[in-house]
Amino acid sequence: MTQYADIQKDLEARLEILLKRTTKVEKSLRRERDHDSQERAQEAENDEVLERLDEGGLKEIDAIEGALNRIKAGTYGICASCREPIAVGRLEALPFARTCIDCAD
Ligand SMILES: [Zn+2]
Repeated sequence: MTQYADIQKDLEARLEILLKRTTKVEKSLRRERDHDSQERAQEAENDEVLERLDEGGLKEIDAIEGALNRIKAGTYGICASCREPIAVGRLEALPFARTCIDCAD
């Protein structure tokens, strides 16, 4: 389990950044609207961009949480398909990888 301590640290740091960013995006999306219609149209456009950012962020948060759970459960680094260990180099490049390079799509 300790062999993935560095990856775990990186994932936790990344998760913290993403959670902060997502909170900021959500606050921005929920802010009060009290402008004329032209500004509202511009804001709606901005919100669309923010929502797309948010969606990508949420997917990454899910992937990171999944990886952290696997580290805690002791199943991290094991291919979900063939059950062989995933090469450390692959995990360093792709910390959320669930499959080894042979089983990857
Ligand atoms: Zn495999």
